[in-house]
Amino acid sequence: MQTLIDSFNRVHDYLRISLTDKCNLNCIYCNPSDYKINKLQRSQILSFDELLRLINIFAGKLGIKKIRFTGGEPLVRKDVLSFFQSVFSLKQKYGFESGLTTNGTLLEDKLVDLKNYGMDRLNISIDSLNPGKYKYITGKDNLIEVLRSIKKANELGFNPLKLNVVVMKNINDDEILDFVDFIIDSDMNVRFIEYMPFANNRWDKNDFISYNEIKNIIEEKYPLNEITSIKNLVAKDFSIKGHYGTVSFISSISNHFCGTCNRLRIDAQGKMKLCLFSSGENELNFKELLNDPNYNDDDISELIQKALLPKPQVHPGISELIKLEENNMLGIGG
Ligand code: SAM
Repeated sequence: MQTLIDSFNRVHDYLRISLTDKCNLNCIYCNPSDYKINKLQRSQILSFDELLRLINIFAGKLGIKKIRFTGGEPLVRKDVLSFFQSVFSLKQKYGFESGLTTNGTLLEDKLVDLKNYGMDRLNISIDSLNPGKYKYITGKDNLIEVLRSIKKANELGFNPLKLNVVVMKNINDDEILDFVDFIIDSDMNVRFIEYMPFANNRWDKNDFISYNEIKNIIEEKYPLNEITSIKNLVAKDFSIKGHYGTVSFISSISNHFCGTCNRLRIDAQGKMKLCLFSSGENELNFKELLNDPNYNDDDISELIQKALLPKPQVHPGISELIKLEENNMLGIGG
């Protein structure tokens, strides 16, 4: 078994796969309804068979230990449960952990199957607990479905169950404490994510609220203690004194964590992304490689190792990020 190591000695054992560029929500920070993006045709996205072959390569030859499925909204993809069933066989063969990031709107009736197919980690995005504001942020009236999914996931014992909240100033920053209260006496973890700039979201520094500011708001009511026992390379995790629920922060902008980055991504059309903010150069195109009879799995595995080497030490700063035209969370997968 090889290990994926870049030129800064970072071991890459975590793969994030975007199953689709389509989403049933139009979140203002991700997929605003007036942003016209050219959606991929079915033939342009990786088929499930192609994805399973890639998982075999990454987990069987390259030491990937954790795979997360995201999108777009992964659960809008037709027959996604049969795909997860096939992933389960590979999980049993190679022993990797699997996770799913979803907006939770189409989740409730799939939870039992997901549990049976060994989905280890579930992250559900929910940016407001207020129906009107939820609709303002996402463009849809689905808060009830999301809350029902969270309740059922909890009852089924998905643990850790993580709630993702993108915090934007003057939009949902007044709900930070409501979210903490929501998880405070549960097994859940709420993750406050700094608002990031992408090609399609008209990011403005006036809408940005940093990890430190969010943490200060919480600490006015609840003392937080950093949990150092969890080896988390991305989030900063905190316990709340006297309670079970935990709080985390993802500070991609104010305090990047590139030094410990262990992630590789495959976007919906099969491009390998070295970073969420990659500029698009030196990308491997798996759609082409997997369909080229000149490349067998060993050849592809070798190409992946080589392609990792130019990964930059850190992602570009804000002034560069807002200029990138080709990136958006839908295709790459957050
Ligand atoms: N549809 C799924 C969902 O809603 O969780 C998966 C895809 S979504 C792109 C993955 C994560 O990226 C979500 O938690 C979402 O909130 C986050 N995200 C999207 N755009 C973002 C932005 N501009 N800044 C920070 N997080 C963002």
